[in-house]
Amino acid sequence: MYGLKKDWAMEKRPRVCVLEDYVGREARWCPGCGDHAVLSSVQRLARDLQLPPEKTVVVSGIGCSSRFPHYMKTYGFHGLHGRAIPVACGIRSRRPDLDIFVVTGDGDCCAIGTAHWIHAIRYNMNITVLLLDNNIYGLTKAQTSPTTKRTERSNTHPRGSFFVSLNPISVTLGIDNASFVAQTVDWNPPHLYETIKAAHEHKGTSFVRILQRCPHYTSHIFAEAQRDSSLMLLMRHPEGINVPDAVAKTFKNQVEHDPSNLNEGREIASQSNGVYPIGLFYKNPQAERYDDFTSYGLDMGPSAKIEAVNEALDRFMV
Ligand code: SF4
Repeated sequence: MYGLKKDWAMEKRPRVCVLEDYVGREARWCPGCGDHAVLSSVQRLARDLQLPPEKTVVVSGIGCSSRFPHYMKTYGFHGLHGRAIPVACGIRSRRPDLDIFVVTGDGDCCAIGTAHWIHAIRYNMNITVLLLDNNIYGLTKAQTSPTTKRTERSNTHPRGSFFVSLNPISVTLGIDNASFVAQTVDWNPPHLYETIKAAHEHKGTSFVRILQRCPHYTSHIFAEAQRDSSLMLLMRHPEGINVPDAVAKTFKNQVEHDPSNLNEGREIASQSNGVYPIGLFYKNPQAERYDDFTSYGLDMGPSAKIEAVNEALDRFMV
């Protein structure tokens, strides 16, 4: 009989996860929202890499994109505004065996969560951070966010924002111990997928800014770049984000950029000619990782732990 051995023990069949094993509730983002594309990419990646759903965690803060954990059939944590990254670091500190994704938005990460973002890059724990940047607070109905471009109108700046917008890539590249910094767009599925894949493969904090369309409030912002690929610059290198030649050919502007060259990565990130660079700005697999330290003691048994706690408490005896 199928599945039974001669001694009546059940044969263990190899486990194969299909896409549906990663698909959670029906996504309730607006039609055409770029978040759908990111969700599909993460679900496909999880299926392709056969990530065990029970060993995968998606952590988010607050915002449209932060509904992400509900739409994955994995573990998830829909946290407080701006606090997704420290929650993910906390999980990583005691669970080196999990695959951890953080999904955050430009309001969540670059405003209220800024301090956590900066220090998480410095800690370089092994997590994949996806910043879905639509240049606006979408969930709370169109307020100026830190990445909103100057002169763009919003409910808080009806005559146009007068702030200089923040460039999340330049900021991240300016933080000591950054180890993986990339940019992609929601409307190019192969590039989006390969970027998230490379980010997941990297051991350390991978920071990926995804330019994300919000057809409800900021439909015009990335529309031209979506239509005209000359408004994008594809960074290419064998150590960077590798897309098939057929995809690369569609980009008129390309540059050879070695991702170990931090200064060149910073220069490309800070160019202000209206062209969006996509690809890998910087990678340093040797950067120190804080989770190498926080995993201390994970192999201790209960009595060794009690002994260690008592020893630590004894130090404070007066
Ligand atoms: Fe997406 Fe914008 Fe709708 Fe939010 S408001 S779900 S970001 S399209």
